[in-house]
Amino acid sequence: MSLDQNWFTEQASATDCAFSLHIKKKLHEEETPFQKIAIYETTEFGNLMTLDELIMLTDRDNFIYHEMMSHPVLFMHPNPLKIVIIGGGDCGTLHEVLKHTTIEKVIEVEIDERVTRLSEQYFPSLCESNNDPRAEFCFQDGIDWMATAEENSIDVIIVDSTDPLGPGEGLFTVEFYRDCWRVLTPEGLLVQQSESPLLHLSLLQSIHYGMRQAGFKTTRSLQFPQCVYPSGWWTATIAGNGDLTQFREEAARNKSFKTRYYNPEIQKASFALPNLLLEGLPD
Ligand code: SAM
Repeated sequence: MSLDQNWFTEQASATDCAFSLHIKKKLHEEETPFQKIAIYETTEFGNLMTLDELIMLTDRDNFIYHEMMSHPVLFMHPNPLKIVIIGGGDCGTLHEVLKHTTIEKVIEVEIDERVTRLSEQYFPSLCESNNDPRAEFCFQDGIDWMATAEENSIDVIIVDSTDPLGPGEGLFTVEFYRDCWRVLTPEGLLVQQSESPLLHLSLLQSIHYGMRQAGFKTTRSLQFPQCVYPSGWWTATIAGNGDLTQFREEAARNKSFKTRYYNPEIQKASFALPNLLLEGLPD
């Protein structure tokens, strides 16, 4: 059975499965030096952005991903002041991070400025904090940015990247993790979107081992649902130098901002891992 032209279908050739969204119309399409960007209006999921035919986000469910890339790691750090986001050009993660009023500075490093400009146009609610004086935009390759960044200068690095293909490939290497380790303060934490445990288990394992090889003493993955990504089951992996089981629970419970998915119980529950993950990951 094939779907008619009113459906956007992401075909994952490596895993031979597909996911479709019913679309009303295509709103925009362009080829940048880095990737092909397309924006659609869907019937039920609001606007949809794809990069090189892969689904990046929809209006309806992006809050889960953006909240889980931000709040767990920020509440695990004792006092996060200076944050770097690598990728994340749609600005949803930036918007969540800036909700933490104690944070002093967030540097958003996105390789493709067009992703941000189009997000301002088609996903305005995600870009509401772009003019916050604490936000600084650098439109350049995150790998180069990290290689030249000052040692011991950042509290939390959030890698909100595309899959390890094209410009995102180098963000999943030991060399990149080594630069992150050097740039982070001793209490610093790195979090990276780490794909699906069902479809990309060996990649997820290699992320853990790569982070450890780069110098991080501890790594932990958390999981959350994301129905528009392959398999609908997604992870983020955190690396640090100390105990990654603690978080500022009181602060999370009394936070001054609203979240639709994240709460302290979700923080605890998201780190409970199924056996298929426990068996393949380092202690
Ligand atoms: N949440 C999405 C996912 O998991 O599919 C990621 C969305 S976000 C739009 C990913 C961003 O990473 C894209 O805008 C892309 O341009 C950016 N990106 C990819 N490689 C990069 C690199 N080397 N440096 C900086 N940004 C990069």
